[in-house]
Amino acid sequence: MPEQDAKIRLFVDAPLGPDAAVPLGRDAAHYLASVMRLGVGARIKLFNGRDGEWLAELAEAGKRNAIAVCRDALRPQAPCPDVWLLFAPVKRTRTDFIIEKAVEMGVSRLQPVFTRRTASERIRTDRMQTNAREAAEQCERLDLPEAMDGAPLVSVLAGLGDRRIMFCDERGGARPAADALRDAGPGPWAVLIGPEGGFAPEEAEMLRARPGAVPVSLGPRILRADTAAVAALTVWQSTLGDWA
Ligand code: SAM
Repeated sequence: MPEQDAKIRLFVDAPLGPDAAVPLGRDAAHYLASVMRLGVGARIKLFNGRDGEWLAELAEAGKRNAIAVCRDALRPQAPCPDVWLLFAPVKRTRTDFIIEKAVEMGVSRLQPVFTRRTASERIRTDRMQTNAREAAEQCERLDLPEAMDGAPLVSVLAGLGDRRIMFCDERGGARPAADALRDAGPGPWAVLIGPEGGFAPEEAEMLRARPGAVPVSLGPRILRADTAAVAALTVWQSTLGDWA
């Protein structure tokens, strides 16, 4: 069966390599056997974030257990751009949207931040990881972003070191995002999106004064937080990332 017939792509933890036998776990076995009705000999693609992408053949295809054996190396491992998304959690479905789109846009870390006006202080890291894995499987990434536990904005900022911040600042008369990023140049970056209520004035002032923070405008309209995340990552990727 040619590679293009292998429609299913799964993330696994196990090492991948020539003839490696990879146990797929109960959920994947159920999905392959019961939902997709694949049997022994069917081909799927595997990646683990370390060993590139492999074409593999099902050697066992039970509803509870499945094993795939790596056959051909398809793509070598390649890094994603070093850009993190710092976002204030919003409503659950909109947070799910942010996670899915951020993974498709190639972020290397997902970091929920709690700000003064963050509406939801609860975000489930396991749900974020599941959404991130499914998005990575679908969009043909070779890795998963790190999904971090939510933390207060100040402690996240304290851990950023020299990483620059694309501070999406809708009220401060900031420069157009592409111009500001181009002038700041490449390197490790974090994109920071505020909550639906926006940053509190003292948070915005603290960010504008922070060395390495680059306030940017995403245009004259106020975008919802989920729209702003996609728009900001689009500008970052096309200016400094792997679309450039
Ligand atoms: N309630 C806030 C207000 O009226 O000022 C709007 C907050 S907006 C819904 C959520 C976040 O998206 C903002 O904190 C900001 O980070 C980002 N954002 C939205 N529109 C933006 C724009 N035009 N330029 C830069 N950032 C924007």
